[in-house]
Amino acid sequence: MTSLNTLPIPHPTRTAHEHAWLVESRHPTSEGVVVYVRCGDCATRRVDLQSHPQVPPTALSREARHVDPLMP
Ligand SMILES: [Zn+2]
Repeated sequence: MTSLNTLPIPHPTRTAHEHAWLVESRHPTSEGVVVYVRCGDCATRRVDLQSHPQVPPTALSREARHVDPLMP
């Protein structure tokens, strides 16, 4: 019988870090360009809206990780 006595793998990217946002896709809308970005380090996703090409995008969504019950 196989042992199920395995320890949970600690989350390696639990600590705060500066996210390395990678653009996954861009979608032009009437409001501007919606940019879907993902952190290459921890896979956190965010949706940005770039209303003007010369203006840095603003975050539309809060950073969202697939499994993170401690973050709102
Ligand atoms: Zn990150």
